[in-house]
Amino acid sequence: MSASALARCLLGLGRETLTRRHEVEFVVSPAAHDPRIPDLASRLGKGQRITVLTGAGVSAASGIPTFRGQQGLWRTFRPEQLATPDAFARDAVLVWEWYDWRRQQVAASQPNRAHDVLAHWSRIFDHFTLITQNVDGLHERAGTRGVVRFHGSIWELCCWNRCSGAPDRWLDDSTPLASLPPTCRSCGGIARPSVVWYGEPIDPEVLNQSLAATACDLFLTIGTSALVHPAASLVSAARQHGAFTAEINLETTSASRRVDLVLQGRAEELLDEIDSARPAP
Ligand SMILES: [Zn+2]
Repeated sequence: MSASALARCLLGLGRETLTRRHEVEFVVSPAAHDPRIPDLASRLGKGQRITVLTGAGVSAASGIPTFRGQQGLWRTFRPEQLATPDAFARDAVLVWEWYDWRRQQVAASQPNRAHDVLAHWSRIFDHFTLITQNVDGLHERAGTRGVVRFHGSIWELCCWNRCSGAPDRWLDDSTPLASLPPTCRSCGGIARPSVVWYGEPIDPEVLNQSLAATACDLFLTIGTSALVHPAASLVSAARQHGAFTAEINLETTSASRRVDLVLQGRAEELLDEIDSARPAP
């Protein structure tokens, strides 16, 4: 091979290598090179007060439907048609059939990496609060300490009549439920899921716990459109307390303009990257 041919060959190789490198840049998740990830991870230090608000996006990788759009629909019903006191008063069995189906879906699924990372943080950080809008109980199953259940839990029931003999709520995690609708052991009347329905207020104690947790150094909102008040106002409250606020979500949301940092992507992937970049305690 002549010197010029060799030079052309090497040049060609170089070009190919460059091209390949260029392609690799696009294959790798952009977040892996995002300098904002180690910046955010550096805020996860001992002694920091950390509060996390989670929503449906955290459970998506576990296969839990978000109940938005056709894929999440049950028998063509929208959640707004079933998750209300009026719907329950009209047809308690229909509403319970929906919850019984959801409970079976959750029972057949597992916590994902997002749940696991947050559960780990809840054990290693002294001042860590997780507020969830999810009612599926997957944070608890992952071993998260002190979960604040903003919208209640599908695994707990309460008396529809609010009779004085029954506890405020009780656990019943049987799937499927033995009979629909389940009943109150005290008064024999109908029991309802201990969740917050459309038009219902948040439990005052839960709301107070959540607001208290907005006095923090780092506030993360993960996998939630943050559209529904009063959950949406927690971000603003954290900002007023001087917290650094960050949003992790697939899409930009109404909160995106109100936070210090927006990371777009899957919760389980981004949390895994943030946890890997976290400084050793
Ligand atoms: Zn009762």
